[in-house]
Amino acid sequence: MDFESLKPQSRLPAVGTTIFTVMSQLAQQHGAINLSQGFPDYSGPPALMDHYCRHLHAGDNQYAPMAGLVRLREAIADKVAALYDAHYDPEHEITVTAGATQGVYTAITCLTRPGDEVIVLEPCFDSYGPGILLANARIVPVRLDHDYRPDWAALAQAITPRTRLLIINSPHNPTGRNWHREDLDRLAALLRPTPIAVISDEVYEHMSYDGVAHASVAAHPELRARSFVISSFGKTFHVTGWKIAYCCAPRELSTEFRRSHQFITFCVNTPGQHALADFMRDRPDWPAELNAFYQQRRDHFRALFSDCGLHLQPCEGTYFQLADYGHLSDLPDRELARRLTIEGGVAAIPVSAFHSDGEDRKVLRFCFAKREETLAEGARRLRLALQTIV
Ligand code: GLN
Repeated sequence: MDFESLKPQSRLPAVGTTIFTVMSQLAQQHGAINLSQGFPDYSGPPALMDHYCRHLHAGDNQYAPMAGLVRLREAIADKVAALYDAHYDPEHEITVTAGATQGVYTAITCLTRPGDEVIVLEPCFDSYGPGILLANARIVPVRLDHDYRPDWAALAQAITPRTRLLIINSPHNPTGRNWHREDLDRLAALLRPTPIAVISDEVYEHMSYDGVAHASVAAHPELRARSFVISSFGKTFHVTGWKIAYCCAPRELSTEFRRSHQFITFCVNTPGQHALADFMRDRPDWPAELNAFYQQRRDHFRALFSDCGLHLQPCEGTYFQLADYGHLSDLPDRELARRLTIEGGVAAIPVSAFHSDGEDRKVLRFCFAKREETLAEGARRLRLALQTIV
């Protein structure tokens, strides 16, 4: 077979390697402090690891049920009920997925037909667009405004009779901005006359700072009725490599979701699901503690990086901090990120990677889910590097 001839048939001809892989590889090659891809450089809680090992050795190593372990789904239902007063039926309305990226992809594919339009709010996480293309649907990008708030007029204009889905994300990656209850009310009013479903990516739900509680779509009955709410254990328990997440949706949406899920993933790692269920049972206070932990880390990061020369933007949630450098340099953000990694020994994500048209507002994204010494060394290197590069 002539494999060259496959090239023009690529389903994603314009898509390169994801920026997270590009930057993490570059950081590794050059021994850079990696503040690019979002993952902690510390381990999850020892008790969670112990639970995992215990289940592994106890022989809990065969397929889990397709929708996820019942005990884990019950633990999720309890958590979501306690936090958001939302009552999802674990039997029919909660599905455990192999990471949130798979959950989002499955939600897109299960609802869209070729030619359907899916609205994304840019900048947005880099898997949404390719997921939409793989479903043969059309990406309709709508820009967030200059403060990265929803542009309601632009969003209203983007809606057509072909619009099938809208993907939202709060706390927001990459900008660290959060939606508030009023935003959800506005969205509900906008969607009321339409049949548009919502995918709400809430993987950073337990990182919402300064006493402002996370506004979950699950807590908004009108929106909840048309939404897939997706969250992740990776972020919450410092185990991004486990790739275990979940999707809560009303019964009809969940039925469609599972129809696809059973043939995309079938089911998810068994000992990991047991360990998470055990840990959630033992430590219901963990999410609140995590929130305080990351708020403190955000403050620490901002204090350390405040005199590096970059302008730090507000950070209301997530473990990401945006920093502007337009006042210092005209270098494209990808170029600056590359040079900072190679010459300066510190890696960040260029935010243009989250825009389908590559718009470059001269902003870098830093991940502060890192140990104190990592952050301190990152700040030291960045300060020096900026002096020579820009
Ligand atoms: N969510 C992580 C980030 O934004 C990366 C996930 C990934 O690498 N696919 O950095």
